[in-house]
Amino acid sequence: MTTCPRCHQPVKAQAINCPHCGNQLKAFGHPGIPLYQATETTYLCDRCIYDEDDSCNFPQRPYAKTCTLFHDKSVPLVEEFRLPSSGNPIKKFQAWCRRNRGLLIIATLVVISVIITLQSN
Ligand code: SF4
Ligand SMILES: [Zn+2]
Repeated sequence: MTTCPRCHQPVKAQAINCPHCGNQLKAFGHPGIPLYQATETTYLCDRCIYDEDDSCNFPQRPYAKTCTLFHDKSVPLVEEFRLPSSGNPIKKFQAWCRRNRGLLIIATLVVISVIITLQSN
């Protein structure tokens, strides 16, 4: 459940229109495309990351009342990848191996080549 930005009544997260006031909640009639909305006295662009980095070329900028691409500038675009600071050292090693799989394959091939070269001499 979420709330309608106009009438503040609870609505289903997938609702395309508010069942109470009819406010459009999703863009293009598709439940997977959220339609972000400003309040009556504000605009979305003031809080949008694409206004801040000047990458938006939508005609409604900087006075967008509704927008499908709005992204709150206080929320990072890409979630930070955090390594566990403590924990099981075996799991840490396994995670390191997964991240460096290519390097490990190359190192293994080098070691095998050296062994074969040494045995043939
Ligand atoms: S993406 Fe939408 S909310 Fe963001 S700056 Fe452009 S028009 Fe404004
Ligand atoms: Zn409503």
